[in-house]
Amino acid sequence: MQYRKMGSLDWEVSALGFGCMRLPSRRFSLMGADLEESKRIIRYGIDRGINYIDTAWPYHLGESEKVVGETLKDGYREKVKLVTKLPVPVVRKTEDFDRFLNSQLEKLQTDYLDIYLLHSLNAGTFEKVKRLGLIDKMEEAQRQGRIRHIGFSFHDTYPVFKEIIDYYDWDMAQIQYNYMDTAVQATTDGLEYAHSKGIAVVIMEPIKGGTLANPPAEAVEVMNSVAQERTPVDWALQFLWNRPEVATVLSGMGNMQMVEENCDSAERSGINSLNQEEEDLITRLAEIYREKILVSCTGCEYCLPCPEGVNIPHNFAILNNVSMEQSRIRRFQVRRGYKKLAGTQEKLDKENPNGNGSLCVICGECLDKCPQEINIPLELERAHAILGKRESITKYYS
Ligand code: SF4
Ligand code: SF4
Repeated sequence: MQYRKMGSLDWEVSALGFGCMRLPSRRFSLMGADLEESKRIIRYGIDRGINYIDTAWPYHLGESEKVVGETLKDGYREKVKLVTKLPVPVVRKTEDFDRFLNSQLEKLQTDYLDIYLLHSLNAGTFEKVKRLGLIDKMEEAQRQGRIRHIGFSFHDTYPVFKEIIDYYDWDMAQIQYNYMDTAVQATTDGLEYAHSKGIAVVIMEPIKGGTLANPPAEAVEVMNSVAQERTPVDWALQFLWNRPEVATVLSGMGNMQMVEENCDSAERSGINSLNQEEEDLITRLAEIYREKILVSCTGCEYCLPCPEGVNIPHNFAILNNVSMEQSRIRRFQVRRGYKKLAGTQEKLDKENPNGNGSLCVICGECLDKCPQEINIPLELERAHAILGKRESITKYYS
């Protein structure tokens, strides 16, 4: 494992961090985590040198923190920096802070967190943080020894990011960044600005919710055109580790193969380790993806559950895959995935909601939950027109 500077903190962090948002799922469960398999793969990652574990209140509908708590028994807690997040979007009053933190410490079976983050800050939630005095509560918890360091995770635009960075002396900022998203969310400017102030920058969505792991044929051709053989995931990760501003890269790993491959990649990583030809190749890959991706869904599942049973990210994944496939046969095969989704309430699997876009009643409940600010009902309507009624993509996307 390679280790890197963690901003101004006096510890070194593994190049790869374990994100516990996409743990192995239990069979027949949409979001429930499989404890034994999760424990096995997280402990394997720690044995390979991962020393940073990231979770949050809502991951796996509250089960992720419990799974992490169980996993870190038997001496594993002492081997890692443990990070979780105050669920700011659902905090209603100042007193909620202690209720959440106490419950999280209990679930995680620990007395302290190495870093506690304000989860999912944007212009709106940051106003709430100020109005409810949540940074004062953070400092109080720090004085009490319940948290060691203070940070935030972020989903909005660069001006908002800069305003938040300048507001407080943060230890850490967690941003969405990958080779496709250099000009959206915090952007490269935000990454460099936070780093220039000595703040550790932790990266989430390095593979853009799995999108960069499944390249269209044109991107595969480009990857095959250079001597350096890498998997699509390795290209995406090395792009990040190449940058001196990045502290650690969180990968939401859901099976043992992912952990093994990502640990192998991390061992090969280094700042400024890519040559000009490789950097140019990544620029070309980003251009190809930007032409193909129709909906910028990362599959985070924050929008679920939908009261009508629509599996929102699955609808968008099928739409993007149809757009990325070049061969007619493959497009046909991907489209068949849409046919397997339920188009009526009677056909809906209540245990594992699998509705297609036609079930959306535009209630709007999911809208404020999407960190990518996707107009979910509109995009579902388009997805259904293209995938269900076989209308052309160009009618809706130029
Ligand atoms: S707007 Fe549509 S997709 Fe969103 S929660 Fe309501 S019914 Fe579900
Ligand atoms: S639609 Fe938005 S909230 Fe839902 S999975 Fe995609 S990115 Fe996440």
